[in-house]
Amino acid sequence: MQVLITGGAGFIGSHLAEALLDRGETVAVLDNLSTGSIQNIRRLQQSSRFSFTEGALDDHAALDRLAGRADAILHLAAAVGVHLVLERPTAAIETNVLGTHALLSAARRYGCRTLFASTSEVYGKGAAVPFAEDDDLLLGPPSRSRWGYAASKLLNEFLGLAAHREFGLPLTIVRLFNVVGPRQTGRFGAVVPRFVNLALGGEPVTVYGDGAQTRCFCHVSDVVRALLGLLDEPLATSGEIYNVGSDCEVSIRDLARQVVARAGSASPIRHVPYDEAYAPGFEDMRRRVPDISKIKAATGWSPSLLLADILDDMIDFEKARLAGKG
Ligand code: UDP
Repeated sequence: MQVLITGGAGFIGSHLAEALLDRGETVAVLDNLSTGSIQNIRRLQQSSRFSFTEGALDDHAALDRLAGRADAILHLAAAVGVHLVLERPTAAIETNVLGTHALLSAARRYGCRTLFASTSEVYGKGAAVPFAEDDDLLLGPPSRSRWGYAASKLLNEFLGLAAHREFGLPLTIVRLFNVVGPRQTGRFGAVVPRFVNLALGGEPVTVYGDGAQTRCFCHVSDVVRALLGLLDEPLATSGEIYNVGSDCEVSIRDLARQVVARAGSASPIRHVPYDEAYAPGFEDMRRRVPDISKIKAATGWSPSLLLADILDDMIDFEKARLAGKG
């Protein structure tokens, strides 16, 4: 099978590319390296079944050429990170909506099996956890930039399902909850690599707000397994949305404590008000827990790694990186 991965030089995309190559597929990556990096795919470039094109989704000629050769497309290219979304909201919304529009047009031209990454952000401020795929969604007002990201990803979901219904595109959507693992960087805000870096550097670990907000963290290897499982079930899963994530909830305050302890660090934990961390009026989600029964029923998938394993893996990766071996 020939697979095109948009955003394949990013954190999750590069792990997917690696797993697909390992099982004998041919992989083409399209990435503009805005938040991904060549370093992530350096090792993959040694394979004759791997190719890399540096470009964005608005390069319609490149997209058409790559889609024309692909049996399947994994669409992960998107604006990433809360800070980017707050600082450059126009670029974030345009990247997501126009990029996905271009991608879906190309996929339709060639009838490619398509799987694309949406986000748990679409559940917005909903408080009724766990979140199921058919739940009503509660977003904040457009005066708060954060919700523009959620709305742009939600529009992508509508576009994707419309292409499935109207034109028979074999398309599946995954709503990714918090994913963690090697190659993830804290530069775009992700909390686990940030806490690990701060703890290893002996600096105060910054918990935003009161730290009682919760998240569920899933290892990237489990997420890759979920996505490949869905890719392999085109008939049963086309036209469907699946939550992908862990359902083990941890508060951010407790996460900070665990990271400091597992890293053997003496870092203090420092609370930082949201207004200072992001922007005045920033709205966070208090709890975010997926209902993962739908993907379990469709493919038998469930996460295998626990938070302690995930944190240890991240700490080992960061130690190796800091020592120049990563
Ligand atoms: N967070 C924090 N300190 C940091 C970075 C993030 O307390 O240095 C919090 C953030 O406010 C949120 C949670 O950790 O409540 C998860 O943040 P992240 O940006 O990783 O993902 P989100 O789930 O918000 O998309």
